[in-house]
Amino acid sequence: MAQNIPFVDLKRQYASIKTEINEALQKIMDNTAFILGDAVSNFEKDFAAMHGCKYGVAVNSGTAALHLALLSIGIKQGDEVITVPNTFIATAEAISYCGAIPVFVDVNKDTYNMDPALIEKAITKKTKAILPVHLYGQMADMESIIKIAEKHNLKVVEDCCQSHLAEFNGKRAGSFGVAGCFSFYPGKNLGAYGEGGMIITNDEAIAQHSKMLRSHGESQKYVHKYIGYNYRMEGFQGAVLGVKIKHIEKWTEQRRKNASVYNQLLKEVVKTPIEANGNKHVYHLYIIESPKRDELMKHLSALGISSGLHYPMPIHLQEAYNFLGYKAGDFPVAEASARNILSLPMFPELTDEELRKVCDAIKGFKQ
Ligand SMILES: *Cc1c(COP(=O)(O)O)cnc(C)c1O
Repeated sequence: MAQNIPFVDLKRQYASIKTEINEALQKIMDNTAFILGDAVSNFEKDFAAMHGCKYGVAVNSGTAALHLALLSIGIKQGDEVITVPNTFIATAEAISYCGAIPVFVDVNKDTYNMDPALIEKAITKKTKAILPVHLYGQMADMESIIKIAEKHNLKVVEDCCQSHLAEFNGKRAGSFGVAGCFSFYPGKNLGAYGEGGMIITNDEAIAQHSKMLRSHGESQKYVHKYIGYNYRMEGFQGAVLGVKIKHIEKWTEQRRKNASVYNQLLKEVVKTPIEANGNKHVYHLYIIESPKRDELMKHLSALGISSGLHYPMPIHLQEAYNFLGYKAGDFPVAEASARNILSLPMFPELTDEELRKVCDAIKGFKQ
Protein backbone atom coordinates (compact mmCIF):
# COMPACT_ATOMS: atom_id res chain seq x y z
CA MET A 1 0.00 0.00 0.00
CA ALA A 2 1.29 3.42 -0.91
CA GLN A 3 1.63 5.87 1.97
CA ASN A 4 -1.30 8.28 2.32
CA ILE A 5 -0.53 11.98 2.02
CA PRO A 6 -2.15 14.06 4.77
CA PHE A 7 -3.40 17.62 4.29
CA VAL A 8 -1.39 18.79 7.32
CA ASP A 9 0.86 16.64 9.53
CA LEU A 10 1.60 18.25 12.88
CA LYS A 11 3.30 15.09 14.17
CA ARG A 12 6.31 15.49 11.87
CA GLN A 13 6.91 18.98 13.18
CA TYR A 14 6.58 17.95 16.82
CA ALA A 15 9.08 15.12 16.24
CA SER A 16 11.62 17.68 14.98
CA ILE A 17 11.37 19.91 18.12
CA LYS A 18 10.25 17.41 20.76
CA THR A 19 13.02 18.01 23.30
CA GLU A 20 12.71 21.82 23.19
CA ILE A 21 8.92 21.68 23.47
CA ASN A 22 8.89 19.18 26.31
CA GLU A 23 11.43 21.24 28.29
CA ALA A 24 9.44 24.45 27.78
CA LEU A 25 6.20 22.77 28.92
CA GLN A 26 7.98 21.25 31.93
CA LYS A 27 9.16 24.73 32.95
CA ILE A 28 5.58 26.02 32.95
CA MET A 29 4.57 23.18 35.28
CA ASP A 30 7.59 23.73 37.54
CA ASN A 31 6.70 27.44 37.84
CA THR A 32 2.90 26.82 37.75
CA ALA A 33 2.69 29.84 35.39
CA PHE A 34 -0.52 28.61 33.78
CA ILE A 35 -2.16 31.89 32.68
CA LEU A 36 -0.14 34.66 30.92
CA GLY A 37 3.26 34.83 32.71
CA ASP A 38 6.82 35.24 31.38
CA ALA A 39 6.55 32.71 28.54
CA VAL A 40 3.56 34.60 27.14
CA SER A 41 5.00 38.11 27.60
CA ASN A 42 8.32 37.11 26.01
CA PHE A 43 6.48 35.65 23.06
CA GLU A 44 4.35 38.82 22.74
CA LYS A 45 7.49 40.96 22.43
CA ASP A 46 9.23 38.64 19.97
CA PHE A 47 6.22 38.11 17.73
CA ALA A 48 5.26 41.82 17.58
CA ALA A 49 8.89 42.82 16.85
CA MET A 50 9.14 40.17 14.12
CA HIS A 51 6.23 41.91 12.37
CA GLY A 52 7.52 45.46 12.84
CA CYS A 53 5.20 46.39 15.73
CA LYS A 54 5.94 47.74 19.20
CA TYR A 55 3.17 46.00 21.13
CA GLY A 56 1.73 42.49 21.19
CA VAL A 57 -1.29 41.43 23.25
CA ALA A 58 -1.66 37.64 23.45
CA VAL A 59 -5.17 36.22 23.68
CA ASN A 60 -6.80 32.81 23.49
CA SER A 61 -7.82 32.80 19.80
CA GLY A 62 -7.62 34.70 16.54
CA THR A 63 -11.34 35.38 16.90
CA ALA A 64 -10.73 37.03 20.29
CA ALA A 65 -7.88 39.09 18.76
CA LEU A 66 -10.23 40.41 16.04
CA HIS A 67 -12.97 41.14 18.58
CA LEU A 68 -10.69 43.09 20.92
CA ALA A 69 -8.96 45.00 18.13
CA LEU A 70 -12.34 46.18 16.82
CA LEU A 71 -13.55 47.14 20.32
CA SER A 72 -10.28 48.95 20.99
CA ILE A 73 -10.72 51.20 17.94
CA GLY A 74 -14.24 52.03 19.13
CA ILE A 75 -16.42 49.82 16.90
CA LYS A 76 -19.90 49.72 18.44
CA GLN A 77 -23.58 48.99 17.88
CA GLY A 78 -24.79 50.01 14.41
CA ASP A 79 -21.36 50.76 12.92
CA GLU A 80 -20.42 49.22 9.59
CA VAL A 81 -17.14 47.42 8.93
CA ILE A 82 -16.12 46.56 5.36
CA THR A 83 -14.70 43.08 4.85
CA VAL A 84 -14.79 40.16 2.36
CA PRO A 85 -17.26 37.25 2.04
CA ASN A 86 -14.63 34.58 1.23
CA THR A 87 -13.03 34.10 4.63
CA PHE A 88 -13.45 32.00 7.72
CA ILE A 89 -16.66 33.02 9.50
CA ALA A 90 -14.71 34.40 12.50
CA THR A 91 -13.84 37.56 10.54
CA ALA A 92 -17.53 38.49 10.30
CA GLU A 93 -18.38 37.18 13.76
CA ALA A 94 -15.88 39.52 15.40
CA ILE A 95 -17.69 42.45 13.75
CA SER A 96 -21.05 41.08 14.94
CA TYR A 97 -19.77 40.64 18.52
CA CYS A 98 -19.34 44.45 18.62
CA GLY A 99 -22.96 44.91 17.54
CA ALA A 100 -21.65 46.21 14.21
CA ILE A 101 -22.59 45.12 10.68
CA PRO A 102 -20.25 43.37 8.25
CA VAL A 103 -20.48 44.94 4.79
CA PHE A 104 -18.95 42.73 2.13
CA VAL A 105 -17.03 43.65 -1.01
CA ASP A 106 -15.93 41.20 -3.68
CA VAL A 107 -12.36 40.04 -4.23
CA ASN A 108 -9.74 39.88 -6.97
CA LYS A 109 -9.98 36.64 -8.96
CA ASP A 110 -6.21 36.01 -8.97
CA THR A 111 -5.30 36.86 -5.35
CA TYR A 112 -8.69 36.09 -3.73
CA ASN A 113 -8.14 39.25 -1.65
CA MET A 114 -10.29 42.38 -1.21
CA ASP A 115 -10.63 44.32 -4.47
CA PRO A 116 -9.75 47.94 -3.56
CA ALA A 117 -11.68 49.25 -6.61
CA LEU A 118 -14.95 48.10 -4.95
CA ILE A 119 -14.42 49.61 -1.49
CA GLU A 120 -15.61 53.19 -2.06
CA LYS A 121 -19.02 52.04 -3.34
CA ALA A 122 -19.55 50.20 -0.04
CA ILE A 123 -18.76 53.19 2.20
CA THR A 124 -21.73 54.84 3.96
CA LYS A 125 -22.10 57.35 6.81
CA LYS A 126 -22.01 54.39 9.22
CA THR A 127 -18.72 52.93 7.94
CA LYS A 128 -16.00 53.05 10.61
CA ALA A 129 -13.37 50.55 9.53
CA ILE A 130 -12.02 48.28 6.82
CA LEU A 131 -11.05 44.72 7.76
CA PRO A 132 -9.08 43.13 4.91
CA VAL A 133 -8.13 39.45 5.18
CA HIS A 134 -4.71 38.33 3.95
CA LEU A 135 -6.15 35.10 2.63
CA TYR A 136 -4.15 31.89 2.14
CA GLY A 137 -0.92 33.66 3.20
CA GLN A 138 -0.83 36.51 0.68
CA MET A 139 -1.44 40.09 1.75
CA ALA A 140 -4.20 42.24 0.32
CA ASP A 141 -3.21 45.39 -1.64
CA MET A 142 -2.53 47.42 1.51
CA GLU A 143 -1.22 50.47 -0.33
CA SER A 144 -4.57 51.04 -2.06
CA ILE A 145 -6.63 50.05 0.99
CA ILE A 146 -4.76 52.43 3.33
CA LYS A 147 -5.09 55.26 0.79
CA ILE A 148 -8.89 54.82 0.64
CA ALA A 149 -9.12 54.54 4.43
CA GLU A 150 -7.16 57.78 4.91
CA LYS A 151 -9.30 59.61 2.37
CA HIS A 152 -12.51 58.59 4.21
CA ASN A 153 -11.11 58.75 7.74
CA LEU A 154 -11.57 55.00 8.38
CA LYS A 155 -9.45 52.71 10.54
CA VAL A 156 -7.89 49.57 9.07
CA VAL A 157 -7.59 46.35 11.09
CA GLU A 158 -5.84 43.45 9.33
CA ASP A 159 -6.99 39.84 9.62
CA CYS A 160 -3.55 38.19 9.58
CA CYS A 161 -4.75 34.80 10.82
CA GLN A 162 -3.32 33.10 7.69
CA SER A 163 -0.36 35.40 7.05
CA HIS A 164 2.36 35.08 9.68
CA LEU A 165 5.53 36.66 8.20
CA ALA A 166 3.83 37.56 4.90
CA GLU A 167 5.12 40.80 3.32
CA PHE A 168 3.82 43.57 1.08
CA ASN A 169 6.41 46.00 -0.33
CA GLY A 170 8.92 44.73 2.23
CA LYS A 171 6.69 45.32 5.27
CA ARG A 172 5.12 42.51 7.23
CA ALA A 173 1.47 41.66 7.81
CA GLY A 174 -0.12 43.50 10.72
CA SER A 175 2.09 46.61 10.48
CA PHE A 176 0.01 48.53 7.90
CA GLY A 177 -3.30 49.05 9.73
CA VAL A 178 -3.85 50.35 13.27
CA ALA A 179 -3.80 46.71 14.42
CA GLY A 180 -3.09 43.23 13.05
CA CYS A 181 -4.81 40.11 14.38
CA PHE A 182 -3.19 36.68 14.31
CA SER A 183 -4.38 33.16 15.12
CA PHE A 184 -2.20 30.42 16.56
CA TYR A 185 -4.75 27.66 15.97
CA PRO A 186 -2.65 24.44 15.67
CA GLY A 187 -2.85 24.23 11.85
CA LYS A 188 -1.87 27.87 11.20
CA ASN A 189 1.66 28.72 9.99
CA LEU A 190 2.64 29.35 13.61
CA GLY A 191 0.45 27.04 15.64
CA ALA A 192 0.04 26.55 19.40
CA TYR A 193 -0.85 23.21 21.01
CA GLY A 194 -4.36 24.49 21.66
CA GLU A 195 -6.06 27.82 20.99
CA GLY A 196 -4.18 31.13 20.74
CA GLY A 197 -4.13 34.55 19.10
CA MET A 198 -2.50 37.99 19.21
CA ILE A 199 -3.19 41.64 18.46
CA ILE A 200 -0.14 43.57 17.29
CA THR A 201 -0.05 47.36 17.04
CA ASN A 202 2.15 50.44 17.18
CA ASP A 203 -0.59 52.35 19.03
CA GLU A 204 -0.08 52.28 22.78
CA ALA A 205 -3.72 53.13 23.51
CA ILE A 206 -4.96 50.16 21.46
CA ALA A 207 -2.46 47.87 23.20
CA GLN A 208 -3.51 49.09 26.66
CA HIS A 209 -7.22 48.86 25.89
CA SER A 210 -6.90 45.31 24.45
CA LYS A 211 -4.82 44.24 27.42
CA MET A 212 -7.52 45.36 29.85
CA LEU A 213 -10.35 43.85 27.79
CA ARG A 214 -8.67 40.42 27.58
CA SER A 215 -8.73 40.23 31.37
CA HIS A 216 -12.18 41.39 32.50
CA GLY A 217 -11.53 45.05 31.71
CA GLU A 218 -9.25 45.41 34.70
CA SER A 219 -6.81 48.32 34.95
CA GLN A 220 -5.34 46.69 38.06
CA LYS A 221 -6.35 43.66 40.07
CA TYR A 222 -10.05 43.93 41.03
CA VAL A 223 -10.34 47.44 39.53
CA HIS A 224 -12.51 47.21 36.40
CA LYS A 225 -12.47 50.09 33.95
CA TYR A 226 -14.53 48.22 31.32
CA ILE A 227 -16.80 45.20 31.07
CA GLY A 228 -14.24 42.87 29.56
CA TYR A 229 -13.70 39.21 28.74
CA ASN A 230 -11.65 36.22 29.77
CA TYR A 231 -9.49 36.07 26.63
CA ARG A 232 -6.07 35.48 28.25
CA MET A 233 -3.46 33.22 26.65
CA GLU A 234 -2.39 30.15 28.64
CA GLY A 235 1.21 29.70 29.77
CA PHE A 236 1.49 26.37 27.94
CA GLN A 237 0.64 28.07 24.64
CA GLY A 238 3.15 30.86 25.26
CA ALA A 239 5.80 28.20 25.96
CA VAL A 240 5.07 26.22 22.76
CA LEU A 241 4.93 29.38 20.64
CA GLY A 242 8.15 30.68 22.22
CA VAL A 243 9.92 27.54 20.96
CA LYS A 244 8.26 27.50 17.55
CA ILE A 245 8.92 31.18 16.77
CA LYS A 246 12.63 30.30 16.52
CA HIS A 247 11.82 28.01 13.58
CA ILE A 248 9.12 29.97 11.77
CA GLU A 249 11.45 31.72 9.27
CA LYS A 250 12.81 28.34 8.13
CA TRP A 251 9.35 26.74 8.02
CA THR A 252 8.06 29.65 5.96
CA GLU A 253 10.87 29.20 3.42
CA GLN A 254 10.03 25.47 3.24
CA ARG A 255 6.39 26.31 2.49
CA ARG A 256 7.53 28.68 -0.28
CA LYS A 257 9.83 26.02 -1.69
CA ASN A 258 7.01 23.45 -1.67
CA ALA A 259 4.77 25.96 -3.44
CA SER A 260 7.39 26.52 -6.13
CA VAL A 261 7.61 22.76 -6.76
CA TYR A 262 3.80 22.62 -7.11
CA ASN A 263 3.90 25.69 -9.40
CA GLN A 264 6.52 24.12 -11.67
CA LEU A 265 4.72 20.80 -12.00
CA LEU A 266 1.14 22.09 -12.20
CA LYS A 267 1.21 25.43 -14.01
CA GLU A 268 0.34 23.89 -17.39
CA VAL A 269 -2.36 21.69 -15.86
CA VAL A 270 -4.56 23.80 -13.54
CA LYS A 271 -4.83 27.40 -12.32
CA THR A 272 -2.04 27.79 -9.74
CA PRO A 273 -1.60 30.63 -7.20
CA ILE A 274 -0.37 34.01 -8.36
CA GLU A 275 2.08 35.92 -6.18
CA ALA A 276 1.08 39.52 -6.86
CA ASN A 277 3.69 42.28 -7.34
CA GLY A 278 5.38 43.35 -4.11
CA ASN A 279 4.09 40.32 -2.21
CA LYS A 280 5.80 37.62 -0.22
CA HIS A 281 3.22 34.82 -0.04
CA VAL A 282 3.67 32.45 2.94
CA TYR A 283 1.37 29.71 1.60
CA HIS A 284 -0.75 28.94 4.63
CA LEU A 285 -2.81 27.21 1.95
CA TYR A 286 -1.87 26.23 -1.60
CA ILE A 287 -4.94 26.75 -3.80
CA ILE A 288 -5.57 25.45 -7.32
CA GLU A 289 -8.73 25.88 -9.37
CA SER A 290 -10.55 23.33 -11.47
CA PRO A 291 -13.99 23.49 -13.09
CA LYS A 292 -14.39 19.84 -12.00
CA ARG A 293 -13.25 20.51 -8.46
CA ASP A 294 -15.52 17.99 -6.68
CA GLU A 295 -14.51 15.13 -9.01
CA LEU A 296 -10.84 16.07 -8.68
CA MET A 297 -11.14 15.99 -4.90
CA LYS A 298 -12.68 12.50 -5.06
CA HIS A 299 -9.99 11.35 -7.50
CA LEU A 300 -7.25 12.50 -5.10
CA SER A 301 -8.99 10.97 -2.12
CA ALA A 302 -9.20 7.59 -3.90
CA LEU A 303 -5.40 7.77 -4.31
CA GLY A 304 -4.91 8.48 -0.58
CA ILE A 305 -4.31 12.21 -1.01
CA SER A 306 -6.17 14.57 1.33
CA SER A 307 -7.29 18.00 0.14
CA GLY A 308 -9.50 20.75 1.56
CA LEU A 309 -11.98 23.53 0.69
CA HIS A 310 -11.30 27.03 2.00
CA TYR A 311 -14.10 27.90 1.89
CA PRO A 312 -16.99 26.08 0.18
CA MET A 313 -19.68 28.67 1.08
CA PRO A 314 -19.09 32.43 1.29
CA ILE A 315 -20.32 34.15 4.45
CA HIS A 316 -23.05 36.20 2.73
CA LEU A 317 -24.80 32.91 1.80
CA GLN A 318 -24.53 31.36 5.27
CA GLU A 319 -27.78 30.93 7.21
CA ALA A 320 -26.27 32.76 10.19
CA TYR A 321 -25.98 35.90 8.06
CA ASN A 322 -29.33 35.62 6.25
CA PHE A 323 -30.52 38.69 8.13
CA LEU A 324 -28.10 40.92 6.22
CA GLY A 325 -30.22 40.35 3.11
CA TYR A 326 -27.51 39.35 0.64
CA LYS A 327 -28.29 36.86 -2.14
CA ALA A 328 -26.48 34.55 -4.57
CA GLY A 329 -24.93 36.64 -7.35
CA ASP A 330 -24.00 39.58 -5.11
CA PHE A 331 -20.29 38.68 -5.10
CA PRO A 332 -19.63 36.75 -8.33
CA VAL A 333 -15.85 36.38 -7.92
CA ALA A 334 -16.07 35.05 -4.37
CA GLU A 335 -18.93 32.73 -5.37
CA ALA A 336 -17.12 31.35 -8.43
CA SER A 337 -13.96 30.74 -6.44
CA ALA A 338 -15.95 28.85 -3.77
CA ARG A 339 -17.04 26.45 -6.53
CA ASN A 340 -13.63 25.94 -8.15
CA ILE A 341 -10.95 26.14 -5.47
CA LEU A 342 -9.14 23.17 -3.98
CA SER A 343 -6.48 23.30 -1.23
CA LEU A 344 -3.63 20.81 -1.75
CA PRO A 345 -1.53 19.31 1.05
CA MET A 346 0.74 22.08 2.38
CA PHE A 347 3.09 22.02 5.36
CA PRO A 348 6.84 22.62 5.71
CA GLU A 349 7.76 18.95 6.15
CA LEU A 350 6.17 17.67 2.91
CA THR A 351 8.76 15.65 0.98
CA ASP A 352 9.64 16.11 -2.71
CA GLU A 353 8.33 12.60 -3.31
CA GLU A 354 4.97 13.52 -1.77
CA LEU A 355 4.78 16.74 -3.79
CA ARG A 356 5.50 14.79 -6.97
CA LYS A 357 2.85 12.19 -6.14
CA VAL A 358 0.20 14.87 -5.61
CA CYS A 359 1.11 16.48 -8.95
CA ASP A 360 1.14 13.16 -10.81
CA ALA A 361 -2.31 12.40 -9.40
CA ILE A 362 -3.63 15.76 -10.62
CA LYS A 363 -2.05 15.24 -14.05
CA GLY A 364 -3.77 11.83 -14.23
CA PHE A 365 -7.19 13.48 -13.88
CA LYS A 366 -9.12 14.45 -17.04
CA GLN A 367 -9.71 18.20 -16.52
C1 LIG B 1 -8.24 30.90 11.67
C2 LIG B 1 -8.86 32.16 11.23
C3 LIG B 1 -9.56 33.00 12.12
C4 LIG B 1 -9.91 32.60 13.53
O1 LIG B 1 -8.85 32.20 14.32
P1 LIG B 1 -9.14 31.24 15.59
O2 LIG B 1 -7.82 31.21 16.29
O3 LIG B 1 -9.56 29.92 15.06
O4 LIG B 1 -10.20 31.89 16.41
C5 LIG B 1 -10.01 34.22 11.65
N1 LIG B 1 -9.80 34.60 10.38
C6 LIG B 1 -9.16 33.81 9.49
C7 LIG B 1 -8.96 34.30 8.09
C8 LIG B 1 -8.68 32.56 9.88
O5 LIG B 1 -8.07 31.78 8.99
